[in-house]
Amino acid sequence: MSTSDTKVMIEGAMNLETEFLIASLQQPREHMLGSWRFVEGQYHDIPLVIAVTSVGMSNAAAATALGIEQFHPTAIISQGTAGGHDPALKAYDIVLGQQSFDASSYRTAKEKTADWSHMELMGTYAYSPADGTFIPQAVHYPGDSSLLNTAHMVSRIYTRGQVIAGTIASCNTWNRQIERIQYLHDNFNSSCEDMETASAALVCHQYNIPFLGIRILSNTEFNDEDFQPETAQVCQQFVLNVVQHLTL
Ligand code: SAH
Repeated sequence: MSTSDTKVMIEGAMNLETEFLIASLQQPREHMLGSWRFVEGQYHDIPLVIAVTSVGMSNAAAATALGIEQFHPTAIISQGTAGGHDPALKAYDIVLGQQSFDASSYRTAKEKTADWSHMELMGTYAYSPADGTFIPQAVHYPGDSSLLNTAHMVSRIYTRGQVIAGTIASCNTWNRQIERIQYLHDNFNSSCEDMETASAALVCHQYNIPFLGIRILSNTEFNDEDFQPETAQVCQQFVLNVVQHLTL
């Protein structure tokens, strides 16, 4: 990867999802913007910024916007742990976010007796300076194709599980009901759930910055696997391999 005008921001929500990235940096420089921590540095001569966003959609959006304004990254990767939605996936499998969506943005059917499954996904609105008004946003945010291609290439040397291109469902929930998870998978094709990717994707979309979500399964109800924190480091190593092979 050429280093002159490229800077990748890699985001993770918690210490366990970012500490391996930060420890891999040469000449680390700490910054606090509000209560969000950013660490700039070099990885094999590639300029990186690691954003420690904190958990959740609002935190991810705030840290992404602050990081863009301060560091002007040329690409952004949101990475970390996730819960499985695809019954075929197990812990240590990796989902490359071909697309992501906000799983809390839905409209229900109008009905007296609630059937939680009667839901239609909605996007949101963004201000368009050119139009002077608010325009509807897409429900799904696509992952950048060049980032995806590189991640696919790197997946050939991944030995801890399978790597698939899939759909990341994000919102501030932790679903443990198999019927609900299966419903989201069957109806919205979700591969996994997290609490940050779609939110960071929305902000990147508005800034027109190439974006990719990369998530490792740390838990899945289908295999009765509880949260496995060790998966977080494996994901960070995978992401560093991706960054090393980028040709942005
Ligand atoms: N020890 C904590 C772990 C929290 S990890 C606990 O057990 O509650 C939280 C992060 O992991 C979130 O930022 C989210 O993006 C991700 N995550 C992992 N599994 C998830 C799941 N099943 N549902 C939603 N988010 C999940």
